[in-house]
Amino acid sequence: MSTDRYQTILLFGPPGVGKGTQGKILHEVPGFFHSSTGDIFRNLDAQSELGKLFFQYSSRGELVPDDVTMRIWHQNVYAQSILQMFKPNADLLVLDGLPRSVNQANVLYRYCNVLAVVHLVCKDKDALFERMRRRALKQNRVDDAKPDVIRRRFEVYEAETKPVLDFYPGESIIEVDAMGSPAEVLMHILDEVVPLQKAHFDLQTSEGAE
Ligand code: AMP
Repeated sequence: MSTDRYQTILLFGPPGVGKGTQGKILHEVPGFFHSSTGDIFRNLDAQSELGKLFFQYSSRGELVPDDVTMRIWHQNVYAQSILQMFKPNADLLVLDGLPRSVNQANVLYRYCNVLAVVHLVCKDKDALFERMRRRALKQNRVDDAKPDVIRRRFEVYEAETKPVLDFYPGESIIEVDAMGSPAEVLMHILDEVVPLQKAHFDLQTSEGAE
């Protein structure tokens, strides 16, 4: 069963902890494919039905309903595999922002063999809050521009997303301190993830290097 599923690692943690930053860096390394549900949603046409639905939820700091999220994500990752951008036989799938509920984790099980959950940990909530505010200004992100929306995102994380950690076996969860520099955080993630990549893709070690 697991051979049919995408070999996957999850970037997990509260809003603003740096999942997107790490995912984008990893994506540049051959053998890693980054998939972010937030990016998939933001790339929708804002005037389309789905684009409007996304705005309706994200502008309140709420999650898009699970069925819509899982459908759009799966369509996107499947399309990337058809286009050969994502090569399931050679690439470790790096999920950022998925799953965000236990229901999503259940659905994801059909498609992904989760090898590790990289839990980015930051105890300093004020620092996260500030990071999100700065990012919102820089990237013109309406969802995180207002303090009330940021607060709601943290509440939703605690209530709906954090329980996802109990879905996965304790030994698959890797805690990484998210407060170092991006390079330090990356180093810790690679320390943990590269051995998993080698174990699962040992025939393709040099593929993708140009
Ligand atoms: P992010 O870019 O990961 O911070 O996500 C931005 C917004 O997209 C979130 O506040 C949600 O409204 C929506 N979103 C992203 N990922 C998910 C998900 N897995 N489930 C539901 N909504 C999501």
